[in-house]
Amino acid sequence: ALPHRMVMSPPKATIEVPLDVAPGWRPDSWRSRKAYQMPEYNDGEKLADAERILARQSPLVFAGECRDLHQELVAATNGQGFLLMGGDCAESFQEFNVNHVRDTFRVILQMALIMTFGGAMPITKIGRMAGQFAKPRSDPYEDRKGVKLPSYRGDIVNGEEFTAEARENDPYRMVAAYHQSSQTLNILRAFATGGYADISRLHAWNLDFVDQTEPGSRYRQMATKVDESMRFMKAIGVDTADARFKQTKFYTAHECLLLPYEQSLTRLDSTTGKWYDCSAHMVWVGERTRQLDAAHLEFVRGIGNPLGVKISDKCTPDELLQLLDVINPTNTPGRVTLITRMNPDKLRKHLPELIRAVQREGRQVLWISDPVHGNTIKTDSGYKTRPFDKIRAELRAFFDVHAEMGSHAGGVHVEMTGEDVTECIGGSVSEILEADLAKRYHTYCDPRLNGMQSLELAFLIADRMRK
Ligand code: PEP
Ligand code: MN
Repeated sequence: ALPHRMVMSPPKATIEVPLDVAPGWRPDSWRSRKAYQMPEYNDGEKLADAERILARQSPLVFAGECRDLHQELVAATNGQGFLLMGGDCAESFQEFNVNHVRDTFRVILQMALIMTFGGAMPITKIGRMAGQFAKPRSDPYEDRKGVKLPSYRGDIVNGEEFTAEARENDPYRMVAAYHQSSQTLNILRAFATGGYADISRLHAWNLDFVDQTEPGSRYRQMATKVDESMRFMKAIGVDTADARFKQTKFYTAHECLLLPYEQSLTRLDSTTGKWYDCSAHMVWVGERTRQLDAAHLEFVRGIGNPLGVKISDKCTPDELLQLLDVINPTNTPGRVTLITRMNPDKLRKHLPELIRAVQREGRQVLWISDPVHGNTIKTDSGYKTRPFDKIRAELRAFFDVHAEMGSHAGGVHVEMTGEDVTECIGGSVSEILEADLAKRYHTYCDPRLNGMQSLELAFLIADRMRK
């Protein structure tokens, strides 16, 4: 019999595992596999204590919400929807405030509206928010002028400041990240349902700096058209006071990297008897941690949440099929979103063979594009940046390849912020030059599109969705 209760304490050996759980899986079965990119904590007692504290906290999201998202992703997988994921590369403790959350939320809302209106398709909105803290690093150490310290792995692990003290891994940072995520979700839920997202306010969503710009004026024109459509609908008797016009659904996701954190927030759902990672509605496995027999895929294969996996050009068709065998043996639609991130040329070369393999085997996946992670460069002045042209080119390649292959180009995943930062170079309106990077380079990890660049991208996507 299934235990019909929500387990609030850390999973113990005595808990009955429901029958439909993935064979051999337990919330801690990842611990017997090799875990890449996992921080080492020098005090095991403190780590265990932090995990116990987390396991006592209430879930951040609920299983039913994850299932709602899953339903939307089923529609997108079938070509009847489009997924928009966006947010910071890494959330930070320092930068956290209501306005920061609001601005990112607002730009995602604006992008979604542009895409709904232009692409005539329902847009599922997911913020890289309320848990996007832990970062994989290509080098475990950072060398600054001969001084070598452990790399910064995100505020949930250590501090960004370049001192030995800050760079030490502290398990209690997981507890701080949980509490910040809980506040972020509270803000997001209020904005999504408390009137802020009312479609009749879409003129008011204009960010100040957007007004004078080309995407800004395109946005205003579109907002005027939506207003007219609303008046028309009202005139013919559509109830525009309906919740659909007043509220929006907004989900959260982050990279499933720091497994002690994820395990501690994994709970048994009383309705279905399935385990859900209640740290976010969706979690994804990154490009650096998707090894077939390693810890991260082992962890996610047992949770009921919709899953994402990042896919670079290094992934072969065979490997992709094996990966799908591991995390979706039942071939359930909506379960897996493949997030391709290569660069425009590699994508045109490698994506067709991946799609072909998936089509040949009849696998159910949602294909979305992360057009930013394959296009990161370092300037001579030492800034990590991304050329807007390259991002645009990867998106074009993504839409072209899917059109050729007869598959659904089903969404985008971007690192962006609502703030007027100068982190990615280019953009057709107020172009950001290499010399501008120093002006407002605020990111804690990778360079993000600013609000205006994000809107510009949304118009491009909307144009391609229509074709
Ligand atoms: C990220 O999304 O911030 C990230 C690290 O991506 P990837 O795994 O694709 O490199
Ligand atoms: Mn990133």
